[in-house]
Amino acid sequence: MAREDYEIVIGLEVHAELSTKTKIFCSCPTEFGGEPNTHCCPVCMAMPGALPVLNEKVVEYAVRAGLATNCEISRDSKNDRKNYFYPDLPKSYQISQFDKPLCEKGYVEIDIEGEKKKIRLTRIHIEEDAGKLNHDDYGRGSLVDLNRAGVPLIEIVSEPDIRSIEETDKYLKKLKSILEYIEVSDCKMQEGSLRADVNVSIRKKGSTEYGTRTEMKNMNSFKSISRALEYEINRQIDVIEEGGKIEQETLRWDEVSGRTFSMRDKEDAQDYRYFPDPDLVAIRLSEEYIENIKNNLPELPESRKQRYLEEYKLTEKEANILSSSKHLSDFFEASTKICGNPKAVSNWLMSDIAKVLNEKELEPDEIPLTPEHLAELITLIEKGTISSKIAKDVLNKMFETPEAPSTIIEKNGWVQISDEGAIKEVVERIIETNPQSVADFKGGKDKALGFLVGQAMKETKGKANPQMLNEMFRNALK
Ligand code: ADP
Ligand code: MG
Ligand code: ZN
Repeated sequence: MAREDYEIVIGLEVHAELSTKTKIFCSCPTEFGGEPNTHCCPVCMAMPGALPVLNEKVVEYAVRAGLATNCEISRDSKNDRKNYFYPDLPKSYQISQFDKPLCEKGYVEIDIEGEKKKIRLTRIHIEEDAGKLNHDDYGRGSLVDLNRAGVPLIEIVSEPDIRSIEETDKYLKKLKSILEYIEVSDCKMQEGSLRADVNVSIRKKGSTEYGTRTEMKNMNSFKSISRALEYEINRQIDVIEEGGKIEQETLRWDEVSGRTFSMRDKEDAQDYRYFPDPDLVAIRLSEEYIENIKNNLPELPESRKQRYLEEYKLTEKEANILSSSKHLSDFFEASTKICGNPKAVSNWLMSDIAKVLNEKELEPDEIPLTPEHLAELITLIEKGTISSKIAKDVLNKMFETPEAPSTIIEKNGWVQISDEGAIKEVVERIIETNPQSVADFKGGKDKALGFLVGQAMKETKGKANPQMLNEMFRNALK
């Protein structure tokens, strides 16, 4: 069978670290980093007799995530123990949720070739993170750091509704953007605060049964997810094409060799012996509680996008890109509010600023200039203080210094020449020294005007007001 005859089926289990100040069952800080084992207490170190108390903020954040992804919120929920042995898990069980998750039956919408597609969510539940093992710095054995133990997580489980690598990428980006908008997680993938277990299988097109899946654990970059899926899909097709069978197994993606390795197969699939945690009370949520969170949900990416289309008359592409990142769209709105020119702000963000961010490999939240300064730059162009050509030089400087554009312009002597007398002088000089072009223009070659304007620009080092130049040349050569 050809590759095109296979359908790809993907489902994601996404873990997001919640940005609460304290851990899920104690008051230790959740802050990333810190000396090993300094953000710990008897509860998160699993001292005998230490009792957990559920952090209410964790429930609130999870409910917010559930409402923002169209989930049903359970009025009646609980915490369960998931038992397994691993050195980064001091209690030998993780407190998670089993049969009564906080949120169920939601969906996230993605755009696929202009069409909307719903990726259904099975559930969102709350749980605690484990500690971290450090294998690298110590020659003999590993050391355990429990700073991360007890950091709150939500796990967002999708139905196997995703059908391609592109859809996986869009789904995860959309989910990330929603979580950022509602401010429940900083979603820093490089710090591991957003990571995904990627489940994938293949089946013959038209078949109604799912194939056997493999699962790639703890993926934390968009690029490696795409690469790993590409590899794994091809591997599965090859196995089937050669008459083999896919084994259900857990895989580890290796970035360096660009292939997956087996971690464990179905035979040693674990029995977690879930049971309700007797140290914690049931979670009962009132209608008012849920209603209140619903009413205080901030604007979501989809509605921002609509507003950009209608209110600011941006193009579909602009609205999509700007609204996809909370940082970018906050920047856009702040700047637009000051200068009143959404189109110009969008242009700068989408072209020149995006280009530099790309070159320097910076994320939207790392734009090194302020919305105020971009607004000022745009106003200076509108007022004719600088040409848009000079503005690009100013922008480049703005990436290097925190100085205001007006200061940069002044320091570099970049103020646009709009003085009629000064421009007239230049125009006359250029006409005198370029008789051939003047003759060409008079003979009907409009292009010659461009050349003359260019010469004048060159002479003024790009500072002459181009509109005035154009006009004066036309008048002088009439
Ligand atoms: P587990 O909790 O053991 O990992 P689940 O049945 O809860 O198993 O499924 C976990 C994830 O795997 C879900 O996101 C689901 O969409 C996905 N999944 C289930 N079956 C398949 C399949 N045949 N192909 C691809 N993904 C699948
Ligand atoms: Mg799984
Ligand atoms: Zn603690």
